[in-house]
Amino acid sequence: MTFDEAKLCESLKKNVCKSGYVKPTPVQKHGIPIIFAGRDLMACAQTGSGKTAAFLLPILQQLMADGVAASSFSELQEPEVIIVAPTRELINQIYLEARKFAYGTCVRPVVVYGGVSTGYQIKELLRGCNVLCGTPGRLLDVIGRGKVGLTKLRYLVLDEADRMLDMGFEPDMRRLVGSPGMPSKEDRQTLMFSATYPEEIQKLAADFLKTDYLFLA
Ligand code: AMP
Repeated sequence: MTFDEAKLCESLKKNVCKSGYVKPTPVQKHGIPIIFAGRDLMACAQTGSGKTAAFLLPILQQLMADGVAASSFSELQEPEVIIVAPTRELINQIYLEARKFAYGTCVRPVVVYGGVSTGYQIKELLRGCNVLCGTPGRLLDVIGRGKVGLTKLRYLVLDEADRMLDMGFEPDMRRLVGSPGMPSKEDRQTLMFSATYPEEIQKLAADFLKTDYLFLA
C-alpha cells in the first residue's frame, strides 16, 4: 500500500504530503488497510514506527467520508473517537499529529490531561470535539463529570498499552472501557498499540478487542 492507494481524501493527502511523508512505514503499510476494513487490531509497534499516523489516517478518513462535522456549541460533547495514552507528552504528540492531519477539514481534535486545571480543557471540549485525546485519569474525570457523552463513540485507541500498565493505569483503563454508556466492543472499533506483548497485554487485548481481532508485529 502507498499513501495514494490508501484512498485518502484530498485534504488528508495534502496534509500527509505537507508532513513530508512519502512512503508508509511498515506499521502504516499493514495497519491502515486493517483499520479501513473495520477490524479490531492489536499492533506491536515502538515509538518512532509511525504508529500514530497508522491509526489517525484511516480514522480521520472514515470520519470525513461519513460526513462527520464538528458540532457547534453543545452542553454535552459526544466524540466519535477517543485516543488514550499514558503521559501528557505522548498524548500531546498524538493531538498535534491529529491537528496537523485534520487541518482544513471539519474534524476537531481536543486534548485533556492531568496536572492542570480542567477549566480550559472543558471549554475547549464544549466548543466541539470529534476526536478526544487524553490521559486515562483526566478522561475518566471529564466523562464522570458528565462533560463528555459516549453515544457517538465508534473508535477507541489505546496507545502504549504496556506503558499504561507499567504506570499503574490498568484500573483506570478498565474503568474507562467500562464507563456507563461506553459502546460494547461489538459496537466500536478498538485499536491497541504496545511495544511489548507480555501476558498482561494479551489479557487486555482479549478483554477489550473483538474475538476476531488481528495481530500485527
Ligand atoms: P510515531 O511512531 O507515530 O511517534 O512517529 C514517529 C515519527 O515519524 C514522527 O515524527 C512522525 O511524524 C514520523 N513519521 C510517521 N510516519 C512517517 C512516514 N511515513 N514518513 C516519514 N516520517 C514519518
